[in-house]
Amino acid sequence: MIEFAQGLGEKPFRATQLFRWIHQRGLQDFEQMSDLAKSLREKLSTAAYVQAMPLISEHTSKDGVIKWLFDVGQGNAIETVYIPESDRATLCISSQAGCAVGCTFCSTGYQGFSRNLTTAEIISQLWFAEHRLRQQKAPGAQDHRVITNVVMMGMGEPLQNYSNLVPALKIMLDDHAYGLSRRRTTVSTSGVVPMIERLGLDAPVALALSLHAPNDALRDELVPLNRKYPIAQVLEACKGYLRYAPRDFVTLEYCLLDGVNDQEVHVNALIDLLRPSKGANYPCKINLIPFNPFKESGLKRSSLAQIKRFSDTLLDAGLVCTVRKTRGEDIDAACGQLAGDIQDRTSISERRAQGKVIPISPDFS
Ligand code: SAH
Ligand code: SF4
Repeated sequence: MIEFAQGLGEKPFRATQLFRWIHQRGLQDFEQMSDLAKSLREKLSTAAYVQAMPLISEHTSKDGVIKWLFDVGQGNAIETVYIPESDRATLCISSQAGCAVGCTFCSTGYQGFSRNLTTAEIISQLWFAEHRLRQQKAPGAQDHRVITNVVMMGMGEPLQNYSNLVPALKIMLDDHAYGLSRRRTTVSTSGVVPMIERLGLDAPVALALSLHAPNDALRDELVPLNRKYPIAQVLEACKGYLRYAPRDFVTLEYCLLDGVNDQEVHVNALIDLLRPSKGANYPCKINLIPFNPFKESGLKRSSLAQIKRFSDTLLDAGLVCTVRKTRGEDIDAACGQLAGDIQDRTSISERRAQGKVIPISPDFS
């Protein structure tokens, strides 16, 4: 932003002013940026625009979860999910259109990989959601923050889009922008080992690892990236990451698939993996995720009784474990159900003309 301001012949402090207007206040119209000189406002309106990606649809579920589908061009779409809770509000952000990892239980994985999102496309999901919700919930209260937590758990593998992810994370954390706490900003990864190490140096936020299996043979099948970075290497990298992390544990995500990874032999192997000797637990909290079905997978969610047995066994062994509450299922917004595919391949301008794209009016007013 400083370079951009300097390119317009402006002093660096103008960059901070602009940054705050755009990210903190959510303004799109340069004319409303009242502490900028008129000449600068004019220059800006010819040199730049502030705009989220075109919004294709907005769905609100019975439990208050909102899913937005954005057009990212060439027939691709990405999804962003807002999850309100009593004490926090989380935004689940996408990092790629599709995903190249191809996990067998993930709808995004089935879609294949289209492309990396740019830094602007990643941060504009937060920009859009924060300011739209602010307008709805507290009109006029410009500085009242709505979103308290961000999880990079939408579509895509964030650590396979590292160079665009890191600047977006830095904007999320910046006090002149969203001022999110590092502890409340989470990157979830299927285990891109070299990038886990770099993230610790570049933007240490909370880390979640998608483990899903207690041994390499099974994880090779479920999370194909395991063939490149096997479990021992990934767990070691995550442990090393804790030197920089804002928390002293790694979240281990484990999606429970009926008959595949939810049996007694699996939970026992998981305990052996994470608790190799008495009193020496791996520094983690296990988050069990009930599988959210989608038609191509051919997989089933474990029964409630099975999920309880699995979690009780972990707890009895002295491991910390929670079961993720599934939210937004009725609008296909739950983990792993994000497909983002636009069936309708009509161009965006034609769709807009046909009223199929929801217009985003300036500043959502
Ligand atoms: N690519 C990253 C982040 C996006 S996926 C990763 O894999 O970690 C976010 C989480 O949703 C991951 O833990 C993923 O394993 C989980 N997930 C994927 N498909 C799912 C499904 N169908 N049901 C439940 N959880 C799923
Ligand atoms: Fe990609 Fe994550 Fe889905 Fe695996 S679970 S296919 S890494 S988005």
